[in-house]
Amino acid sequence: MPGVDAGGAVAVALPREEAPPRRAFAPFATLLPFMVVGRVHGQEEAARAASPHDALERMLTWLLADDDATAVWYLREDWPTALTMVGRPARGVVGEARRQAHLFRLEPGAVLYGSITACCGAELGLPEIEWLPVGAGMPCECCLVLNGTGD
Ligand SMILES: [Zn+2]
Repeated sequence: MPGVDAGGAVAVALPREEAPPRRAFAPFATLLPFMVVGRVHGQEEAARAASPHDALERMLTWLLADDDATAVWYLREDWPTALTMVGRPARGVVGEARRQAHLFRLEPGAVLYGSITACCGAELGLPEIEWLPVGAGMPCECCLVLNGTGD
């Protein structure tokens, strides 16, 4: 019988101790970087959101449910980095030709309400922004340049 020739292949298996560390953070938390907080019918409300779009949807739900509701959203204060998001004026807010996308830098813990200013200085009202998936829209040149050379 020729016997089983392992060819030394088993020698490449890593010791268990060298497996990469797992579970450094809760996986779901990475998908929900945004917080929405507010007061609806006199009750404190808080919710997580996956994107500015989802955060805005949640806010609008509260504001429709209660005329006196207040709500703000922000990038979670424990998020490790600032995020750059792409947004443009929603349809109907400005003429089609002016629906230029801009880059918005969101700092962890910086509460957003009213309006937000893009890298290039363009200011948009928060409820009037259509948020785009990163890479989906071509931001204005000014935003691109300023974002690329910024801090
Ligand atoms: Zn811009």
